[in-house]
Parts: sequence; C-alpha cells; structure tokens
Amino acid sequence: MNNCLFCKIINGQIPSEKVYEDEDVLAFRDINPAAPVHVLVIPKQHIDGADQLRPEHADIISKIILTVKKIAEDLSLSNGWRIVTNVLEDGDQTIRHLHFHLLGGAKLGDFGRRNAD
Ligand code: AMP
Ligand code: ZN
Repeated sequence: MNNCLFCKIINGQIPSEKVYEDEDVLAFRDINPAAPVHVLVIPKQHIDGADQLRPEHADIISKIILTVKKIAEDLSLSNGWRIVTNVLEDGDQTIRHLHFHLLGGAKLGDFGRRNAD
C-alpha cells in the first residue's frame, strides 16, 4: 500500500490536477485522457479494487458515485457521461487503488474502452 501511486497522490507526494476533494474522496484529471473530460474519482481509504468491496464500504461507494455526478454537473457534462471502473487483469486495471473513471465531453462511442486484443 505504501507504494501505491494513488495513495501518494492523496498524501501530496505526487502532484495531481485536483477537481474535487473532501475528507473521504479525491478527484483529479487523468494524466492520459481517453476523452475530452477524464477525471479519476477515488476513496482516500486504500481499497485495492471493486473485487475487494465489502458491505462496510457501502457508504464510501455511494459517496463516490454521488461525487461523480456532482463533478459531471460542475463540468457541465449535461449531454451525458460515463463511469467506468476496471477490475484486475482482464478488466485492464493498471493501478490497484479503487478508482472510477468519469468520461465525457464528446459522444463517447468506444472512447474510454480499450480494445480486446
Ligand atoms: P486503470 O487502467 O483503470 O487502472 O486506470 C489507471 C488510470 O490512471 C489510467 O487512465 C492512467 O492514465 C491514470 N494515471 C496513471 N498515473 C497517473 C497520474 N500520476 N496522474 C493521473 N492519472 C494517472
Ligand atoms: Zn492506495
């Protein structure tokens, strides 16, 4: 966990372009955007991924989803948007700290989805 990139972003060791922060949740711009708006929304508590969710995480998960919706409104994504969370190897999860991608700003089509190869 100490070596977790997103924990380092949370504690300020690695810079990020923050778009929202409170005591439980951080949101920042993805460094390699897959759409005109690409924000990552993460719990400050380290959770490896959606495969590790337990009933006691219900409050933080609902808070994250409501935060995604608020950010979509704040960024004027009135035409629509997408939430994605990748899980483990087949899901192409590259960073093992739970995160939700908020994608929008254009008709997405397959934007934000990686190709199967
Ligand atoms: P995933 O592939 O679902 O694990 O998503 C990880 C995301 O983190 C990718 O979209 C990366 O572009 C993004 N990412 C990696 N390093 C950074 C960073 N230092 N700041 C912001 N986003 C990052
Ligand atoms: Zn972490």
